[in-house]
This record gives sequence, structure tokens and C-alpha cells, in this order.
Amino acid sequence: MCCEGLLVVVSGPSGAGKGTLLNLLKDSGDDSIRFSVSATTRTPRKGEVDGQNYFFKTKDEFKLMIENDELFEWVEYCDNFYGTPKKYVEDTVKEGYDCLLEIEVEGAAKVMEAYPECVSVFILPPSFEELRRRIEKRGTEDIEVVNKRLDRARKEIAYVSNYDYIIVNDNLKEAVEGLRSIIKAEKLKLKRNREILVKFQKD
Ligand code: ADP
Ligand code: 5GP
Repeated sequence: MCCEGLLVVVSGPSGAGKGTLLNLLKDSGDDSIRFSVSATTRTPRKGEVDGQNYFFKTKDEFKLMIENDELFEWVEYCDNFYGTPKKYVEDTVKEGYDCLLEIEVEGAAKVMEAYPECVSVFILPPSFEELRRRIEKRGTEDIEVVNKRLDRARKEIAYVSNYDYIIVNDNLKEAVEGLRSIIKAEKLKLKRNREILVKFQKD
């Protein structure tokens, strides 16, 4: 895959605030960032819209996407499948837009391997207790699923050392600023701006 825009991978345990943070980034109106919409077999939460939050699929439909090689990566997470549609990501970065994927750690590891130039960010909650409070307060899962997600969170936190950056989402505004700054700084890296030097050398 060719990459002109940045590929930004954001992970973190369920309830850390990834969705909230990315919604704020979306609303900030930065037109250079595009957000990948994943496919999933989980049921929509109240207010979630097909094609905006996820492409909601049956298990058979999801399997067909795998068979047709339509997914960049996919995983099974807490009894459901989640995957990143390949074409959108490829087209977006080729067109020079930054493409942001909000995916869990196993899928993220696959992306990092396939695409080492990606930028990876791990979102941490301020504490495990706060993570539990946030998941419970969100109220979108029953207690059995909440516990599964919290078990999974302990395992996911062990992956943090794979990532380029960590953001502790305590103060939401600061966390958004952190993410925005990471993207800005990455775009200014010399290795991503060699053509400017070449132009100056020609002048
Ligand atoms: P994730 O997408 O990581 O699963 P969400 O964005 O759904 O997490 O956030 C989980 C809950 O935590 C939501 O109820 C959200 O309003 C709340 N939340 C997110 N960020 C913060 C924060 N910085 N401080 C307090 N509550 C937060
Ligand atoms: P949720 O059900 O809370 O929306 O998402 C559960 C987990 O799945 C989150 O950690 C989220 O980042 C992750 N996720 C969402 N879409 C994808 C995807 O396409 N691929 C992978 N690997 N994980 C995903």
C-alpha cells in the first residue's frame, strides 16, 4: 500500500474514552483527517448509525468479507468480530488524507507489522477503577460483558509498549490536544517532507 497521508492507529481498553476523544477530533473540523469505519457483528448501541459508527454485519456477511479479502485486519473480540475495510484505508492515504483507525491491540499489531510507517497511539484511563466506572456509567453493556471487557482491558494494557505514544485520558480537552499534537508533529517529520528539501536543492 502506498502512503501519502498518515495512517494513525489508536487503541486502548474499552471505556478509556477513545470514541469520545475521536468524536471531539472529528467535530474540530480538520478536513485532512479521515476516520475509518469498521465492520462489526456486535449489535448497535442506542444512537449508533450503520455506516457512521460501524458497518453492522451478520456473522455470515462478515465471513464473506474475510473470504473476499475485503479486510485490512480483523479480530474476534468479546464474542464478536471486528474488522477494518481495506479499500477505504488504501484510498484515503493514497489521496493524501490522514486516516485514523480506532482498533484493538491484536488488530493494531497486524497493522503495525504490515505498515511499519504508521503512527500508533495508546489511550489509557487514569486508573483501572476509573475505567470500570466509565464502562459502567456508559451503560451500554450488561454486567457479564462489562466484566469480559475489563478482563480484556488488563491484557490489552500489556501491549502498551508496542505503541509510539501514550495519552492518559484524564482531562478530555488535554487528551484531544495531545492527539492533535502527535498528528501535527508526525506530519512535520523530516522523513515525511523530503520533497520540500529536494525542491530547495533544485532552486
Ligand atoms: P471507548 O470508546 O474507549 O470504549 P467511550 O468514549 O465510550 O470509551 O467512553 C466511555 C465513557 O467514559 C463514556 O461514558 C464517556 O462519556 C466517558 N469519558 C470519556 N472520556 C472521559 C474523561 N476524560 N473523563 C470522564 N469521563 C470520560
Ligand atoms: P466497541 O464494541 O466498544 O465499539 O469496540 C470494542 C473494541 O473493538 C474496541 O477496542 C475497538 O477499538 C475495537 N475495534 C473496533 N473496530 C475494530 C476493527 O476494525 N478492528 C479491530 N481489530 N478492532 C476494532
